[in-house]
Amino acid sequence: NIAPNDLSAFWMPFTSNRQFKQAPRMMVAAKDMHYTASDGRKILDGTAGLWCVNAGHCRPKITEAIQNQAAVLDYAPAFQMGHPIVFELANRLVDIAPKGMDHVFFTNSGSESVDTALKIALAYQRVKGQGSRTRLIGRERGYHGVNFGGISVGGIVTNRKMFGTLLTGVDHMPHTHLPEKNAFSRGEPEHGADIASELERIVALHDASTIAAVIVEPVAGSTGVLIPPKGYLQKLRDICTKHGILLIFDEVITGFGRLGTPFAADYFGVTPDIITTAKGVSNGVIPMGAVFVTKEIHDAFMTGPEHMIEFFHGYTYSGNPIASAAALGTLDTYKEEGLLTRGAELAPYWEDALHSLKGEPNVIDIRNIGLIGAIELQPIAGEPTKRAFSAFVKAFERGALIRTTGDIIALSPPLIITKGQIDELIDHVREVLNLID
Ligand code: PMP
Repeated sequence: NIAPNDLSAFWMPFTSNRQFKQAPRMMVAAKDMHYTASDGRKILDGTAGLWCVNAGHCRPKITEAIQNQAAVLDYAPAFQMGHPIVFELANRLVDIAPKGMDHVFFTNSGSESVDTALKIALAYQRVKGQGSRTRLIGRERGYHGVNFGGISVGGIVTNRKMFGTLLTGVDHMPHTHLPEKNAFSRGEPEHGADIASELERIVALHDASTIAAVIVEPVAGSTGVLIPPKGYLQKLRDICTKHGILLIFDEVITGFGRLGTPFAADYFGVTPDIITTAKGVSNGVIPMGAVFVTKEIHDAFMTGPEHMIEFFHGYTYSGNPIASAAALGTLDTYKEEGLLTRGAELAPYWEDALHSLKGEPNVIDIRNIGLIGAIELQPIAGEPTKRAFSAFVKAFERGALIRTTGDIIALSPPLIITKGQIDELIDHVREVLNLID
């Protein structure tokens, strides 16, 4: 007989539970904008789970789609077989993807999408006769998941330092090209795009003919919401195009309406060669990821059978029927409720609400874009992350789920949030900031 709250067998090392000796906050149910905690309290979800439940929790279309699919065709491999639902999903996804993103490859998570994209980029250069292009460029403070490719190109040294060399030939653009603080100004910073020339410097250092791809999050999420200066992503695009380097946008967070457009590529008007997604593709309900590529990349592999054989990639669960059904239910919900663009309508209200926190104790910066917000706190001397973590604990006690990364409170509510709920969420944060040390 194992008690339901016996945590002894479960292991997930990077929870702050260990650092701060806190028992996890148990969730037992969820509906729309709220979780229900194990003590029965309703918790307003200010983070869409983990940046993923974009349509809100337990939405009927998604639940029904999963239940119906599970009763009819539970699993079929994508290797040498298929099932109609995954083909329908691919077409529907390409329909809403930025122009030029014509094909989609299914994975089961953001980390898998990133490693898939890196493999596609390296393999593409090879099949195009550019086998010398083996280098990859990421960005300091970039987060691209936890698999080996993702931590190699990712810019968080602590995530990779115990694993030796990892992928070789990886460079990281300095993050100083993104103004870390936005001096409380709203939206995209006006200045700093010129620092995209950091990429030019790295390209010049290595010779462009050795570089396969550059990967960036259009808006860095997990490392503290770093918003690119106006024109910055276009500049990256120009440099990549000039030198024959592929540009990968990691849209695991920004994809599916987070910025008030279907993808960040739409928001910034910049089209990469490859887009990685996960999370919002299936509303975070069932593991799924999708990697979008251009026709040119797809055709490079498909024109010669020998290329297909060389490029061995795909997962047992790639585009499996139940995940595909969940994704179709998700797309239906987005469409019926206009959720992929709802963030654009709410963004001005969201921005005002967030910036009303200026002047509250210890707030040293506020950043926002689409339905993402960051409130940066002055760290307690010698105890980094403690202040923000206290805010998280207190907010949960009061009935709101916020997320912290370092001493930054990151907010990314489900796209169904109402103005009243925005006020409620921000009021929770305000009160918490006045409660903690
Ligand atoms: N890329 C980005 C930009 C992410 O934010 C994340 C997850 N937060 C990942 C990749 C990894 O996704 P997953 O946790 O689904 O592997």
